[in-house]
Amino acid sequence: ETSDLKALIEKRVRDVADFPEPGVVFKDITPLLGDVDAFRAVVDALGDGYGPIDAVAGLEARGFVFAAPVALALGAAFVPIRKVGKLPARTLRRTYDLEYGSATVEVHADAFTPGARVLIVDDVLATGGTARAAADLVREAGGTVVGFSVVMELAFLNGRDRLTDVPLRALTTV
Ligand code: AMP
Repeated sequence: ETSDLKALIEKRVRDVADFPEPGVVFKDITPLLGDVDAFRAVVDALGDGYGPIDAVAGLEARGFVFAAPVALALGAAFVPIRKVGKLPARTLRRTYDLEYGSATVEVHADAFTPGARVLIVDDVLATGGTARAAADLVREAGGTVVGFSVVMELAFLNGRDRLTDVPLRALTTV
């Protein structure tokens, strides 16, 4: 049934060439979100088997869409990790390099109770810069990163190599 899920994801994630800029093949998850059975199966698989989870952290913006239902399914809190300047209370932040320029993500400093078991969720793992920053932020905020789940991993970008200290689950790898 694992290969069924992979086939379903590959059928429902659409490649959009040259978005948001020339040379990038964008993995569009909106067809997956529009298929109730596929969406449910993905949410179940993202959160399954990690043991007790206190909080599921989602990465803005498409990570939120998956992380919130995973949190509810696991009976865990949902914590947003956002782009800089969006969270209203005191935050911790991490800046990381992109191909051109840099990006900064934030989490509320009081988002986790000390030692909370945290699962981080996003749609796509590409270079791993976002994932690395998120794992570091969760730890700085006092959480224990139990795992990192993504719907799709782009293996040719080697993002996994930047997350060797975190159990990484990709529902499908392309
Ligand atoms: P990275 O930090 O390079 O691993 O990029 C991961 C973040 O950018 C994730 O939050 C993804 O949503 C988004 N992303 C990067 N590359 C793609 C892509 N080809 N298709 C869709 N989303 C992408």
